[in-house]
Amino acid sequence: MSTLFDIEPTYPTKFCRTCEHRERHQCGSMVIQYCGIRKSNRTDNGKLKIKCKTPACDSYLEETIKN
Ligand code: SF4
Repeated sequence: MSTLFDIEPTYPTKFCRTCEHRERHQCGSMVIQYCGIRKSNRTDNGKLKIKCKTPACDSYLEETIKN
């Protein structure tokens, strides 16, 4: 019989940090990050606020190196 404790925890391996859709907005000395494709009605610009360590969503697209 399996119990709750038999379930292995799963940890996210990808984060918004390396996603192509991440946008960095300089705000004075602070950097605020938004998702370029996910919407939010809680932000002034209508974009979802994210952090580097926000686990990647289904729309994650691996960032390509920009020169
Ligand atoms: S992982 Fe999802 S929420 Fe994060 S930046 Fe990419 S598309 Fe946006």
